[in-house]
Formats: sequence, C-alpha cells, structure tokens
Amino acid sequence: MTNETWGQIREGLISRVGRNNYTTWIEPLRLSQLEGGVALFEVPTPFFGDWVQRNYGDHIRNQLLTSGALVERLEFLVGTEAPRPAATASAERAASARPAVTAPAAPQTRSRAPQDDDLPGAPLDGRFTFESFVVGKPNELAHAAARRVAEGGPVTFNPLFLYGGVGLGKTHLMHAIAHELREQKPDLKVLYLSAEQFMYRFIQALRDKQVMDFKSLFRSVDVLMVDDVQFIAGKDSTQEEFFHTFNALVDQNKQIIISADRAPGEIKDLEDRIKSRLQCGLVVDLHPTDYELRLGILQQKAEFYRGQYGGLAISHGVLEFLAHRITTNVRVLEGALTRLYAFASLVGREITLELAQDCLADILRASDRKLSIEEIQRKVAEHYNIRLSDMIGPKRLRTIARPRQVAMYLSKQLTSRSLPEIGRRFGGRDHTTIMHGVRKIEELAALDSQLADDIQLLKRLLQG
Ligand code: ADP
Ligand code: MG
Repeated sequence: MTNETWGQIREGLISRVGRNNYTTWIEPLRLSQLEGGVALFEVPTPFFGDWVQRNYGDHIRNQLLTSGALVERLEFLVGTEAPRPAATASAERAASARPAVTAPAAPQTRSRAPQDDDLPGAPLDGRFTFESFVVGKPNELAHAAARRVAEGGPVTFNPLFLYGGVGLGKTHLMHAIAHELREQKPDLKVLYLSAEQFMYRFIQALRDKQVMDFKSLFRSVDVLMVDDVQFIAGKDSTQEEFFHTFNALVDQNKQIIISADRAPGEIKDLEDRIKSRLQCGLVVDLHPTDYELRLGILQQKAEFYRGQYGGLAISHGVLEFLAHRITTNVRVLEGALTRLYAFASLVGREITLELAQDCLADILRASDRKLSIEEIQRKVAEHYNIRLSDMIGPKRLRTIARPRQVAMYLSKQLTSRSLPEIGRRFGGRDHTTIMHGVRKIEELAALDSQLADDIQLLKRLLQG
C-alpha cells in the first residue's frame, strides 16, 4: 500500500475522531511501510507516536482492516530516522507504545533481552523502572514488596500478588522487577508475560501438539511474572494449566509475581483452588492515587520532557491544576501531559493554564463526569447478584434490602446528591429511609469485615 492510498483511507477517520483531532494527529502520519502485519508510520516526535497509538491506534487499525490491509499492529518511527524493515526495528526506537499491552494478538519476540532468546515473554518497557516509579502513600507497600522481590534473594513470599485499579502502576512495577533482576542477576531466567499471552501460548501449544515443550519451558524459569491474571478467569483449560505451572514453580521454590485488577478472592469465575493458592503469598494492593502522588508523577514527567523538548516552558500552576483535576488514573494523567507537550511543541507555544484547558478539554470534561446514582445501583446489584429493578422496588427481604442500603450509602458517600434526591431515585423513598439506610450500613460495616470489604471493592470499582 502506498502513502497515497493511505491518504484516502485515513479520511474515513474524520468522522470517528473529529475534524480537530484528525488534523492534529492523523493527517501528519506518513505511512512508510506495511509488511508482516505491521503498519509503520512516520511521526514528528516519539510522543506523537505514543499519543496516536494510545488514542487512535484501534481506529486506525480498524480503518486499515476495513480497506483490506492485514494489520495486526501499528508502529511509529520518528521522521528523521530512515525506515527500516519492520522485522528489525526495535521497540524503543520505533516508539511503539507498549506492544505487550496494545497488541494482544501477537506475542512479541523482537526486542527481548538477548539472554532470554528461548523465552516467550513480552518485551519490557524501558521506561518502567524503579527509578521512574514515584512512591507515595498509596503505593508504598506495593513498591516495597516489589523491591524486595527484585533483590532476587531467597523466596520469602510466594506469590507476590499485586492488585489495584487500572493505571495505578502494576505493570510498571512488574517491569521494574524484571529490569532489576536482569541487571543484578543475569543468570536468572526471568519471564514476564500477560495472562492473555500465557493463554495464547498455551492454545498454540495445544494446536501444534507441543504441550510438553510448553510445560517444560514454563517450568524452567526462575522468576515467572504474569500480568492481569483476571483475564484467565472463566477460561477453563488455561486456568488448569496455569494452576499446574504455578504449583510446579512454587514446589521448586521459584518466585512468582502476579497482578490483577482486584484481590484474588474477588475475581469471578476463577477456580477456588487457584484463588486460595494466590492468597498464600503476599497480597498487596495499590490504592487510588492521592494529590501528592499525582503531582509527584507529573513533576517527574515534566522533568523528563524538559530534556526532550529543551526550552519548552511550562507556567507555574499547570501541573498542580492537572494533579487536582485529573484523578482517574495515572495513564490518563500522563497522557494529558504528553499531549500537552506534543501540542505545545507543534504550535511552538509555552504551556500555560489556558493552553492546558484548551488542549485537554475532552480529558478534563471526562474527569469531571459525575458518578450517577444509576451507576451505583447497577454496580451494587451486579455485585450482590440481584436485579436492578429490586433496587428501586418495594421488597423488604434482607438479601435485597441490604444491598439496597449499600447502594444508598454509596450514593450518599460518592455523589453530592441530597437525601431527598437520593430517595427519589430509589423508587420515591422518603429521605428518612435513606438516612436510616446510610446509618445502618455505617454501623454494620464497623462490625462486619465482609461488608466493609464489599464496600471498599465497590468504591474502587465505581471510582476506578
Ligand atoms: P496498570 O498496569 O496498573 O494498569 P501501568 O503500570 O501500566 O498501570 O501504569 C500506567 C502508566 O502510569 C504507566 O505509564 C506508568 O509508568 C505510570 N505510572 C503509574 N504509577 C506510577 C508511579 N507511581 N510513578 C510513575 N509512573 C507511574
Ligand atoms: Mg497493566
């Protein structure tokens, strides 16, 4: 496919991404190669590529697929570098954003460390190190545990189970452990991959009748890291295989590190024996970020960008503004800063508060989004396996009334609605009924740790 053809294809993206985004991010992309399922684009800066990958990668891929081009993955190359054959372009130079995350279909084999040539792991992101990980109250425990494991000493807890909402640094910490081990203990076989890749590998082994090879390979590692393990919930044969691999390694006293978006006991459709195995080691959670941590992360990134975009000034108060306004997750926060720098450097302007408000309007608006009582009711109903209609209905059965009160409590806690307003949304109940429900849950949660846990989980899911 030529760049001209691409020029026509990309216009189909206008309706999807909007005219402004199209002009800023899509139009400057030059397709320089399409080979082996990889579409290679030229971009003005690494951040430009990163940004496009994260925000428009799926759209672009779909658009290419629709036009008949077989594309599995997008890669980006900074314009001044000569395009090289895709098969030798290294992930770092091509600034492809997190291949392991964005390209679930293909196991990555190209940018592995040389000592791991026989290991089917995912490539590590060079930026995810301990040095670049900002430690704050919400993540200090997880960080300390990761540091301990990264020393590679005798195994003291197995597995290390890290969990927390999306974008809070689980993958970052796991990569940091792997980097550290590869540097300090180059003889150890360290294998990092996502649960999805584990499954993909396993299915492939089944298909190719190479299950024995698969087994012996996974049993030969010294440190196994499996990211986003919630992914294998409900996938029976993969779970089974994972369980056996896990046990074999634990028996050999090999370190295992697992991450998930929630605690082991809370992962639905995960076999009980696996849940209890996962709970045997050290289970640590990454809490949602607080203002200080967010500001710390932004300051660190800004420091890095100062080096990248020498001379690009940022006004006082911009970072504070972002840390205050974007509270969802670190990935969004970083994305905002990345876009801001990319944009400011493209238009050659200083980064001011006005520029930030302008350029990040969509992100700021999304972060402003208020949690609705409907959403709370839906999540709570889902969690307790009752019908949404029972939330507002009249049933007084304990198994329904209690979840309903939990939803009332969360509505009071997580939204700014008044008691009468909440009452109206719970089938026109009186505000005293709501107050009673809220108090009831407060009392019970102080005594009943299961209920307290439920509430914590629900809060996390809702504020995710
Ligand atoms: P998760 O795997 O938990 O969804 P990631 O590890 O992918 O999240 O983190 C999302 C982004 O936020 C990454 O770019 C990561 O570098 C960054 N990040 C998260 N927490 C921190 C931190 N404490 N310090 C620096 N960067 C962080
Ligand atoms: Mg992750």
